Amino acid sequence: MEIIVQKFGGSSVANTDKLFNVCKHITKEKNKGNAVVVVVSAQGKTTDDLIRQEKEITDKPNKREHDMLVSVGEQISVAKLAMCLEELGYEAKAYLGWQVPIITDSNFGDANVTEVKTSKVIQDLEKGKIVVVAGFQGIDKNGDITTLGRGGSDTTAIALAAALNSKKCEIFTDVDGVYSEDPNKNKNAIRYDKISYEKMLEMANNGARVLHNKCVKLAQEKKVKIIVKSTFKEESQGTIVE
Ligand code: ADP
Ligand code: ASP
Ligand code: MG
Repeated sequence: MEIIVQKFGGSSVANTDKLFNVCKHITKEKNKGNAVVVVVSAQGKTTDDLIRQEKEITDKPNKREHDMLVSVGEQISVAKLAMCLEELGYEAKAYLGWQVPIITDSNFGDANVTEVKTSKVIQDLEKGKIVVVAGFQGIDKNGDITTLGRGGSDTTAIALAAALNSKKCEIFTDVDGVYSEDPNKNKNAIRYDKISYEKMLEMANNGARVLHNKCVKLAQEKKVKIIVKSTFKEESQGTIVE
């Protein structure tokens, strides 16, 4: 059983039409006979909105409750995406971080994944189900919900790919790959067909948010090839990070 891990960012799942659009990428792999695990972020600007709501109350939230609040967006998107897939006739099962479980340290707001227990996911895949996992969130040893830092769903995807011994992970986003500069800011930016982990890490550390810096480090460590591609422009081959 070849396991494919696909991750879709917030702009790729911003509304119901877009949720059904990502189902095309998912079911294409499923129809080829692959086992598919999908990681999904909160819809559109949901996480920003949760932070805005928090700020109406306090600038100094307790870190535990902060993570409990900002992780909520992904709960909505996994449940909805699994429903969309079922609506299309596929069996799907949604998981929150604690349900997998994705175990992290207790560094609230910027937690690190320490272990992913894969047995439930594998059982579902063996039954033919598409597994949909909430990005950005985990659980610490005290049973508290943690988050992995802004943009952390990329890291969830790589952590799952590594734990499932998948050699590659597809990161679908709103641009068709990694560019020399932010293509939304500089129209002359050049898309890379391929880029090294080292170079990508340097770019991520310098603010190229197309990939979360922790995800690049983890992929390098676990030898997971990252393919960054567009959710919307199917003809583009994207960028391979390896
Ligand atoms: P997602 O919601 O899919 O995780 P992000 O907004 O986190 O998407 O990341 C994609 C965005 O990263 C792009 O829309 C682009 O504006 C920005 N970006 C910044 N630097 C780069 C770069 N060097 N190459 C590609 N995209 C970049
Ligand atoms: N929803 C989270 C954020 O906005 C995680 C992510 O998008 O990867 O930062
Ligand atoms: Mg992102």
